[in-house]
Amino acid sequence: SLRVSNRVAQIKPSATIAVAQRARELRAEGRDIISLGFGEPDFDTPAHIKAAGIAAIERGDTKYPPVDGTPELKQAIIDKFKRDNGLDFGVNEITVGNGAKQVLFNLMSAVLDDGDEVLIPAPYWVSYPDMVKIAGGQPVIISTDEETDFKITPRMLRASLNSKSRLLLLNGPSNPTGKVYSEEEYEALGQVIREHSRLVVACDDIYEHIYWADSPFRTLLNACPDLADRTVVINGVSKAYAMTGWRIGYAGGPETLMKGIKKVQSQSTSGACSISQAAAAAALNGPQDCVEEMRQAFKERYEYLVPALNAIDGVECPGCDGAFYAFPSFQGVIDRMDNIANDVELSEWFLENAGVAMVPGTAFGAPGHIRLSFATSMEQLHECVRRITEALAAA
Ligand code: PLP
Repeated sequence: SLRVSNRVAQIKPSATIAVAQRARELRAEGRDIISLGFGEPDFDTPAHIKAAGIAAIERGDTKYPPVDGTPELKQAIIDKFKRDNGLDFGVNEITVGNGAKQVLFNLMSAVLDDGDEVLIPAPYWVSYPDMVKIAGGQPVIISTDEETDFKITPRMLRASLNSKSRLLLLNGPSNPTGKVYSEEEYEALGQVIREHSRLVVACDDIYEHIYWADSPFRTLLNACPDLADRTVVINGVSKAYAMTGWRIGYAGGPETLMKGIKKVQSQSTSGACSISQAAAAAALNGPQDCVEEMRQAFKERYEYLVPALNAIDGVECPGCDGAFYAFPSFQGVIDRMDNIANDVELSEWFLENAGVAMVPGTAFGAPGHIRLSFATSMEQLHECVRRITEALAAA
């Protein structure tokens, strides 16, 4: 019978997309479902950004774009890295793809040989391990918990490195924990990274602007500028500008890797949508108050949701500095419910019994936890907490 390749057979479809799908199905059956499953801002793309997309269509900016990005968008990205991060990139050190997701995928295709190991701190974004497998690499998970604030330490990193280690994925603010490495923590990790000259580092900074700590946002290269010859800084417009559907992500990094990424892209997508690139340039070059407004809204929701979750018996929700996810442990709830063995069963139970869709921590390499996205209205969050509390009280 017809089969897919072994490479594809071993990967899982995205768990977050699966939850969204299940929520849609239940809604189609007439059930009232609140979805806290998806990592997508609930805001509309700001008007001036949409207008730039419309203007691009009208002036006929509808042909194949340059493979690695339009000159206008690449310049906007260079200016953004300088302005926000104090990083200097040349035009040949920038690449644009169909979302940060594709940029990561291209990077893996460009750097991994069969069997190369990719170090992934857990809890991790659901897509990392499966992306690595598609690219022929071997994911190596470095598990973390509350004890180290869900971050890897230099000791943990050193213990996971060997001659096959090729790529390290760092993500701050993290999906799903919202934790962010400080400049000092990056500096300490940098000391270990320096010992392994074969290691490339990808810093996934996509949640950079959804951040509320007092200290300014830092990325690895701020702490360790000398690692610029093997660090790729990944970012995009999806989260900061509510532009998930436009599919624009980008990276800055060493020219050799950018050339490799360009080659992969030239034989796959040929580049990112020309209209979206015009809109993304307007987002990066234009007024930034929309970013601040959305950030404030996310911060308010965070300030409501975390204490509200902690008030539920058996739930422990750590605080964090950014992104739009709460990632509480529900282990206390799982332990006291006879019919529930783990976070996957509990998430299903909440969907059936409370009408709330959330993603089980197992999908992020952190069993016992459940991820709630607060990229939704305050009203929905209140309702979600009410439903969870009532369902548990009735259980
Ligand atoms: N990186 C992380 C950690 C994410 O959570 C996401 C989206 O959920 C992405 C990258 C991809 O974003 P996009 O492909 O929309 O730019």
